[in-house]
Amino acid sequence: MNKTSKIISQVRSEGRKALLETEAKTICAEYDIPVTAFKLAKNEKEAVEFAGQIGFPVVLKIVSPDIIHKSDAGGVMVNLKNAAEVRGAYGKVLENAKKYDAAAEIVGVLVQEMAPQSTEVIVGAIKDLQFGQTLMFGLGGIFVELLKDVTFRIAPITREEAEEMIKEVKAYPLLTGYRNTLQADIDAIVTILVNTSKLVMDYPEIKELDLNPIMAYEKGAKTVDARIILE
Ligand code: ADP
Ligand code: MG
Repeated sequence: MNKTSKIISQVRSEGRKALLETEAKTICAEYDIPVTAFKLAKNEKEAVEFAGQIGFPVVLKIVSPDIIHKSDAGGVMVNLKNAAEVRGAYGKVLENAKKYDAAAEIVGVLVQEMAPQSTEVIVGAIKDLQFGQTLMFGLGGIFVELLKDVTFRIAPITREEAEEMIKEVKAYPLLTGYRNTLQADIDAIVTILVNTSKLVMDYPEIKELDLNPIMAYEKGAKTVDARIILE
């Protein structure tokens, strides 16, 4: 678990509490939580080069310790299909970030694999004052934000408990091939929940964790955005 400890102490030494998406996803990957392939570009030429390596279409995202909600800042551009689109988006993402916060420190632009659209789920963890590390599960979009259709368990959780969490939400039928929805790989989501549980138990200094969204597929699942906040 070397990378995780190194990243957390580095973030602390810089006096930061919020990890960058690159840092959060590196930690996730170390805990076998599947994430989109990504590379941090420092200039436009690198962005185009990395896009070619990752394979089109790609997504470009602003990486800044001062911008936590990237899309609010116009810092996310999806479905870039060729080098010309990547060049255009590179400038746009930086320009939007400057408009949003002229003083924002820019680390670079993240080039990542575009995960195909699918049913979105959310896995979270919060450190409750009384109960300690607590895991959350819900379906993406309106289900969590509007309907508060979520379920919680105190960590650590077993695979059985993770499965219960998934089956407990009202929107669960949307993961079972109901009508024209796909039959999601529940086992892959269980693994993400259990590995997230392990991560927050290993690192009690994690105050909040948010894998939002995770694309759930018929085979496997992929974390598209990861946020980790330290105490
Ligand atoms: P933030 O939550 O900081 O605004 P996200 O990284 O979640 O930024 O990006 C916003 C939205 O863009 C996501 O909810 C998702 O719908 C889409 N998105 C982001 N990255 C990808 C990706 N790699 N593949 C597919 N869709 C993506
Ligand atoms: Mg997000």
